[in-house]
Amino acid sequence: KEVTEAPTTIFDKIIKKEIPSTVVYEDDKVLAFRDIAPQAPTHILIIPKVKDGLSGLSKAEERHVEILGYLLYIAKLVAKQEGLGDGFRIVINDGNDAGQSVYHLHVHLLGGRQMNWPPG
Ligand code: 5GP
Repeated sequence: KEVTEAPTTIFDKIIKKEIPSTVVYEDDKVLAFRDIAPQAPTHILIIPKVKDGLSGLSKAEERHVEILGYLLYIAKLVAKQEGLGDGFRIVINDGNDAGQSVYHLHVHLLGGRQMNWPPG
């Protein structure tokens, strides 16, 4: 995976619709779109539209509490929208050891198959 900690990432271009993505949910605060390399039948990324320093969860400050909670709430809404009534998994990769490749905080929503723990 290519790693970038640049202030802007490919997700900024997705937010601005400068590169295409399959959007499944959007409002003024967040965007949810299908992962380009799905690891499960349903694999969606949920991101804040304003990065505000949140390159990853490890950069979270108290001012981010509201958006962090909102991202999880939207993940739940999208899971329902996607028909994941039998279950789903939420993942946030942070930093090199986790294999984070895009440094704009994102919540992975995975579902549609049985997950194994670990490694899944
Ligand atoms: P990370 O490894 O940082 O947790 O997750 C980044 C995710 O972004 C990966 O699952 C990767 O497939 C996805 N991704 C990277 N570039 C693009 C893109 O241009 N479009 C979409 N839809 N997903 C992308």
